[in-house]
Amino acid sequence: MARDSCDGCGRPVSVAGGMENVWTFGQDDGSDGTAMTLEFEDGTSHMLCYPCLAALPDEPTDDDVERLERVDEETSTLGAR
Ligand SMILES: [Zn+2]
Repeated sequence: MARDSCDGCGRPVSVAGGMENVWTFGQDDGSDGTAMTLEFEDGTSHMLCYPCLAALPDEPTDDDVERLERVDEETSTLGAR
């Protein structure tokens, strides 16, 4: 399990595993994964937290992730404080 930050909103997240793993919210398995790595067809990958994943369309692209970043600058409540 790795710790990193969400590529969308930048909040610290933890990843329980790779693509094949589902989120482990609410499961008392000792893991607190709150994000997963999303691999796009163009070969890029982004680690995104659940709220950001939920905001992406079914077939997200790099542009969609960039939009998350921009939206976050305007609406984030997770930023400086
Ligand atoms: Zn996020």
